[in-house]
Amino acid sequence: MSNLSKDIEEILITEEQLKEKVAEMGRIITKDYEGKNLMLICILKGAATFMSDLSRAIDLPLSIDFMAVSSYGCSTCSSGIVKIIKDLDMSIEKKDVLIVEDIIDSGLTLSYLRRTLLGRKPNSLKICTILDKPERRETHVKVDYSGFKIPDRFVVGYGLDFDEKYRNLPYIGVLKPELYN
Ligand code: 5GP
Ligand code: MG
Ligand code: MG
Repeated sequence: MSNLSKDIEEILITEEQLKEKVAEMGRIITKDYEGKNLMLICILKGAATFMSDLSRAIDLPLSIDFMAVSSYGCSTCSSGIVKIIKDLDMSIEKKDVLIVEDIIDSGLTLSYLRRTLLGRKPNSLKICTILDKPERRETHVKVDYSGFKIPDRFVVGYGLDFDEKYRNLPYIGVLKPELYN
């Protein structure tokens, strides 16, 4: 067993499943955005791995920008108070913006981001996430492209961390509980 895998209790989504899903999402987005002015916005750091794969699965000219936000609170939950740590470099005015997220949990981060970005007058604004925990939603957010719906468990891998670790796991897994209790 590998050094990282020994900390994983269960694999929820395999590397192969991720590959297939990202390819499929890329094909759908390619169709939907043909002839548009597509700009992907990666929400750092969790979505960086997904963004890297997804952008290469989209067969269209597009631009990429990054934003880092932090939500105050504990490392395994979200408070809804969002602070922009790093803003976009580019203007999104008249762009067809697609926010790329790792996971939507309470939905509080995204509903804040959505409001903020809409104020900058994009031509359109949609949301794409590789993971979704619908049971945990505290506010309604319309998710336009969603990879996998997962149960209410804390997951790591494919960009998602626990205490800044495990982002480089190639699959989505659940940590052994003794590691974060
Ligand atoms: P929300 O505002 O939707 O509650 O927060 C979403 C953010 O919380 C994600 O972008 C992620 O950083 C973090 N998060 C929520 N659930 C999980 C999880 O199961 N694992 C990890 N590693 N982060 C999570
Ligand atoms: Mg995120
Ligand atoms: Mg995190």
